[in-house]
Amino acid sequence: MLQHLSVIIVKQTDIYGREDWSMLENCTICPRECKVNRFEGGTGYCGMNAGLNIASICIHRGEEPVISGKDGICNIFFAGCNLHCIYCQNHEISQNSILVKDSGMDHDIVLDKISEILSEGISAVGFVSPSHVVPQVKAIIKGLNSRGLRPITVYNTNSYDKADSIRSLSGLIDIYLPDYKYVTTDIALEFSDAPDYPEVALKAIKEMYFQKGSTLRTDENGRAENGMLIRHLVLPGHVDESKKILKSIAEELSPGVHLSLMSQYHPTYHVRNHPLLNRSIYKAEYESVVEAMQDMGFRNSWVQDMDSYQNYRPDFSKDNPFE
Ligand code: SF4
Repeated sequence: MLQHLSVIIVKQTDIYGREDWSMLENCTICPRECKVNRFEGGTGYCGMNAGLNIASICIHRGEEPVISGKDGICNIFFAGCNLHCIYCQNHEISQNSILVKDSGMDHDIVLDKISEILSEGISAVGFVSPSHVVPQVKAIIKGLNSRGLRPITVYNTNSYDKADSIRSLSGLIDIYLPDYKYVTTDIALEFSDAPDYPEVALKAIKEMYFQKGSTLRTDENGRAENGMLIRHLVLPGHVDESKKILKSIAEELSPGVHLSLMSQYHPTYHVRNHPLLNRSIYKAEYESVVEAMQDMGFRNSWVQDMDSYQNYRPDFSKDNPFE
């Protein structure tokens, strides 16, 4: 059965450890450091309170094959975001426009939903856009563990994470799936309102690399069980930025890391008048980045078909946004 939760605001508050509770009371969970009390509402930059803030829980088959496996992954899509990317493909939930506050669902109901999906033979749980809800991620994993469930856990992040947050997840997360968006301050400011993104993201990804290294361990069916896979979305008119990203990964980490180079960018109506972002990427642009990736010696990479954007346009008003 497909699972969909319009919104979940947790009424019970005993699901957090002492340190995470304090963080939520004076929020410095992400680099924005808003210092708001999230138990009193979602007044910080991300707009999310101390509840679980889940927009959707569903089976998703559209990640890289090594992440989705043949049966899919149970993805938990969090509402809100600590980046406001002007081209966001998940704007329905990251900008909170379709959410209805306080559905009365709680931690146990969330665990029930996830458990039900796992009982269908799904073996991995993905946390999507989790940077502003790290305590909530931990509470869900610990709740599943207390029920005797130990799914493969995937931290699917925009990488605007504090390195300390990533350190606090050591031992809880099996696979890091960080998006590495920009290395140029001006671009990070214009597109995501985060001029410090390049520095912050590199530190966070380095911490992930410290924990996992270059190896992406897989099972006998080729499904990832442990490691890190870095994603990069090629943006129209930004081939040079993509090449700088690749150079940064090769020099700061290793060309041996696993890399997913995405061509799926598709303009939303928010950028219909943007001079560069108002179109999909050209085949020649993508091929140029793929060639650079090969020249730099990356040997563990995934590439996408040019028409793949048609499969990555979620509709969060549906039970399953991707089907
Ligand atoms: S998690 Fe949200 S409230 Fe907390 S610092 Fe980041 S943006 Fe601000």
